[in-house]
Amino acid sequence: MLRYINVRSSQRSEFIDITEKINEVIKEAGIVSGICYVYVPHTTAAVTINEGADPSVHRDIQNALTRLVPQEMNYSHREGNADAHIKSSIIGTSQLLIIDEGRLVLGTWQAVYFCEFDGPRHRRVTLKLIADK
Ligand code: ZN
Repeated sequence: MLRYINVRSSQRSEFIDITEKINEVIKEAGIVSGICYVYVPHTTAAVTINEGADPSVHRDIQNALTRLVPQEMNYSHREGNADAHIKSSIIGTSQLLIIDEGRLVLGTWQAVYFCEFDGPRHRRVTLKLIADK
């Protein structure tokens, strides 16, 4: 089954923890065991899994990406968001996750982050949920 999560970013670059939103969708769908494919259908956003307890980690990731891909450079794409497109491709727009006991299987310190690189915007995350049986 296909489900959607709405995400509203409030900054140009921002990591938003969507782990519990995904778990709510899994619970509502009644899936106990299976697979959850998380897909971001945007060209200037991404999804990643990383440290969920200490927010300094995702700030460091954002800062490192900005050092790698500065906002202002001699880009061909003239919309002013070329950096956001590049960051989206570096991080990637999907993650495949395991569902067990009605929840995502994640390590103790892991969280699923929606990565905004050209906010603030309203965004949508697509979830494909596949139950074992
Ligand atoms: Zn663009």
